[in-house]
Amino acid sequence: MLKNDQLDQWDRENFFHPSTHLAQFARGEAPNRVITGGTNCHIEDRDGNRLLDAFAGLYCVNVGYGRQDIAEAIAAQARELAYYHAYVGHGTEASITLSKMIMDRAPKGMSKVYFGMSGSDANETNVKLIWYYNNILGRPEKKKIISRWRGYHGSGLVTGSLTGLELFHKKFDLPLAQVLHTEAPYYYRRENLEQTEEQFVQHCVDSLEALIEREGADTIAAFIGEPVLGTGGIVPPPAGYWDAIQKVLKKHDILLVVDEVVTGFGRLGTMFGSDHYSLKPDLITIAKGLTSAYAPLSGSIVGEKMWKVLEQGTDENGPIGHGWTYSAHPIGAAAGVANLKLLDELDLIANNRDVGGYLNKTMAEALGEHPHVGEVRGEGMLCAVEFVKDRDSRTFFDPADKIGPQISGALAADGVIARAMPQGDILGFAPPFCLTRAEADEVVSKTAAAVGKILG
Ligand code: PMP
Repeated sequence: MLKNDQLDQWDRENFFHPSTHLAQFARGEAPNRVITGGTNCHIEDRDGNRLLDAFAGLYCVNVGYGRQDIAEAIAAQARELAYYHAYVGHGTEASITLSKMIMDRAPKGMSKVYFGMSGSDANETNVKLIWYYNNILGRPEKKKIISRWRGYHGSGLVTGSLTGLELFHKKFDLPLAQVLHTEAPYYYRRENLEQTEEQFVQHCVDSLEALIEREGADTIAAFIGEPVLGTGGIVPPPAGYWDAIQKVLKKHDILLVVDEVVTGFGRLGTMFGSDHYSLKPDLITIAKGLTSAYAPLSGSIVGEKMWKVLEQGTDENGPIGHGWTYSAHPIGAAAGVANLKLLDELDLIANNRDVGGYLNKTMAEALGEHPHVGEVRGEGMLCAVEFVKDRDSRTFFDPADKIGPQISGALAADGVIARAMPQGDILGFAPPFCLTRAEADEVVSKTAAAVGKILG
């Protein structure tokens, strides 16, 4: 085994880490951590620390770490057939079985699943399918996509544009012109604090209508949103939001893409977030929870309405000109099949409803009244604590104070991983679904201690 010093040197000299402060890292000023193992909700690092991972990696290791059933399925698939492509009608038993398992679980009205490798490429596929669809329908002008500020949909060119966070645009010449942003359903951060939830929902609707009016409905192809805003701060929408938005989209013949990369396969306590909020998507993006990140795999689930037009398109133009080498990769598919089986066998979504609800309730009890906590919010196995300088005026701390990262740092030093969300001082929690009540207690008590340490 390599010495820690050697690994540290190689890491800092060679490894371009994503979402990392490059210069500080290279200079050795930002920490690195080498992860060596994991079981259920815990990971271990090379320095011998054992940490309770209350963010499930990047909210993706949904069934928990160290699941031997999935490891065995991957190994068996690798031994039998590590790879074959899925072009021109090819497949494997694993990829075909997984497509059936996904469609059996998908909301009503969905037709087929297209496989990719990541949430970003699945959303890239979605945008291409939307453009193809409107070209086949003879509407070449209807191409713009509306996303929300604070939405997260990936890091690519079009998907980074859909992402409504400044950090992902700044200095990258994004967003691209075909992408527009509208109001986030972020009730706590509404401009007019006098507004009731109902009035705020109407305000979101009015903003969307105004944008559509300004651009012209005949130029707008689709609206994309996460059922609950994730990376933008873990923000469940106010009551009635999705019903009201769907009405507007229907009126203007605008497709709905529901990005379920985080919420798909149980995170909100239902199989899909679309089930939770009665959404009727034309496309659904899936990734993370599809394999619980045991192998990279994603998908675009295509609704019946779009599917008919795509078929018509290929009758007119030949095979669809869109494919990845690793679409439906057999190892990813084998991981997906084993993962979805485990989700059922261990009844993990039921545990999510129970322990996720408990985590949210106890977190609110522990921190809801703290003078620097503006809001504790969540849904299912998602929870967030938002910090403010002043509770009444809801003023932000100076970003230079890095309150969020300081609190997550203090928490990690005490053995619990939570995520300082990228915009605002928000601490996010998205543990594996197998979290126990005792572990939830540990997360809450250590979070309260870390908050006390940094903010008093
Ligand atoms: N959509 C959502 C809602 C996400 O949370 C993410 C990743 N956090 C993505 C898309 C992009 O997925 P990936 O990082 O696998 O490209």
